[in-house]
Amino acid sequence: MAEKIKLTFLGTGSAIPTARRNHLAMLLQYKAETILIDCGAGTQRQFRKAKPNPCKMTKILISHWHGDHILGLPGLLQTLNLNGYNDDLTIYGPKGSKTEFKEKISPYLNFYWNISKRQRNQFNIVVKEVNEGIVFEDDDFSIESSEMDHGCPTIAYSFTVKEKNRLDKTKLAKLKLPNSPLIGELIKGKTMKIDGKKIDGKKLMYTEPQKKITFILDTKINDNAINLAKESNILISEATHSENEQEIAEKYGHLTSVDAAKIAKKAKAKKLVLIHLSQRYDEIPKIILNEAKKAFPNVIIPEDLDKLEF
Ligand SMILES: [Zn+2]
Ligand SMILES: [Zn+2]
Repeated sequence: MAEKIKLTFLGTGSAIPTARRNHLAMLLQYKAETILIDCGAGTQRQFRKAKPNPCKMTKILISHWHGDHILGLPGLLQTLNLNGYNDDLTIYGPKGSKTEFKEKISPYLNFYWNISKRQRNQFNIVVKEVNEGIVFEDDDFSIESSEMDHGCPTIAYSFTVKEKNRLDKTKLAKLKLPNSPLIGELIKGKTMKIDGKKIDGKKLMYTEPQKKITFILDTKINDNAINLAKESNILISEATHSENEQEIAEKYGHLTSVDAAKIAKKAKAKKLVLIHLSQRYDEIPKIILNEAKKAFPNVIIPEDLDKLEF
C-alpha cells in the first residue's frame, strides 16, 4: 500500500485572525517528512491542539514575508530550541528571504536564546531562496516552486510523490513460488525461470500514479499558478474575496472564489480546497464555497485543525 500524504490545516484565516480561523499555516506529513507551509502568528499553539510534534519538522516553506504568513516563526523556533530540536532546519522562501529572516526573525531568536535558562544546543537554520523550478528532490518525491503576482516576492509550491512501479503481492502469492533470490529479479521486471516455471516479472508489477498537492497562497490570478497546479490531486488555494469584490482582489493582489475555481479547472485538478478567506466570510463561508462550486464542483472549505489524507 502506498504511504498516504497527511495534511493538517493549522490555520485557515487571512490578514486578521478570527475566533474561528487562526493565521495561515499548514502541515504536510509524508513518511519521514513533516513540512510546514507558512507560519502565521499562533502556529505553535495550533500545533499543540492538532497534536503533531513540531520537533519532527524537517522543512519550512514560506510563500512570502507578509505578517500573516510568518509572524509565528520566532515563537515556534524558540519552542523547538527549548525542546532540544537538534536537526538542521531549512527554511525555503522567495527572493529576499535571507534578508527578511535576518531582519524580522533573527533579532528575536538572539533574545530568546540568550536569556533562556534552559538553553540547549542552538540548532542550525539554513534559509534558501528559490523562485522557479525544483526546490528539493529525491527518488521518492519532489517540491517545486513558481513565482506568483502579489506585489512582493511570492511563490507557490507543489509537492509531488513520483509515479512508482510496485509489485502486486497478491499475484506473486498466487504463483506459490519457493523462497528464492530470483524473486528480487522479478521485481526489477525481468523474466526468470523459477521452480521450472518461466515467469514474466513485468506482469507482476503495477504502476502507482503520482500524487500531487499544490499550495497557492497570496496572489492575483496568473498563468504560473495554473501551470504549477497542473494535474494536482489536491489544489489548496487562497480565496480571500467573493466574486463581487473582483476589483479589491486585483488591487490587493488576491484571488476571488471564482479565480481559484478557474485555476483548478484549467489545471485539471481533482479537488479544490479554499483557505485564507477574508474575515468578512468568517460566519458565511458558504458564499465563497457556492460561488466556486459553479465553476468547479469538487471544492471544500476546511476549518482550523481539519485533516485530510490521500
Ligand atoms: Zn495573506
Ligand atoms: Zn500577502
